[in-house]
Amino acid sequence: MERSKRVVLVSHCILNQNTVVLPLARAKGAYKDIVKEVMNADIGIHQLPCPEYRYLGLKRESMTKEQYEDSRFRNINKDIALDTVNIIKEYIDNEYEVIGIIGINESPTCSISGEKGILMEELINIIIKENIKLNYIDVPTDYHDGTMSEKFIKELRNFIK
Ligand code: SF4
Repeated sequence: MERSKRVVLVSHCILNQNTVVLPLARAKGAYKDIVKEVMNADIGIHQLPCPEYRYLGLKRESMTKEQYEDSRFRNINKDIALDTVNIIKEYIDNEYEVIGIIGINESPTCSISGEKGILMEELINIIIKENIKLNYIDVPTDYHDGTMSEKFIKELRNFIK
């Protein structure tokens, strides 16, 4: 079977809501509607690590970006960012299309649009320095399976086409 050689990178919790802060989960497991759109386009899904899980585990409280801002958490995110850029380069060097990154809007760690989360700040800084061209999109704060807004469906389909 030929591979599509098309890949999208996603914030960890798009595929696994079990890692989010307890009361904030918006699905039992994955965000099915997003995953279905990506699967229907024959695109591979490369899941990023969850930095907050790595730092504070499953019993963490909801925290702001300012509360997360310390050198240990920064360094965790710098390491993930460097590792991720190497992964992206490996795909590109082997003639894969890396479509872009799907983040989580308003997350202190994984937000891309508006104020960037700590991981996305580190990651996108290196991506720009390395002159890698990617597209970006965030899962909106009101996303729930079965009620994806027309606006987001359109954005997502444009993003993956
Ligand atoms: S740190 Fe990122 S991947 Fe982890 S739960 Fe928060 S938004 Fe999701």
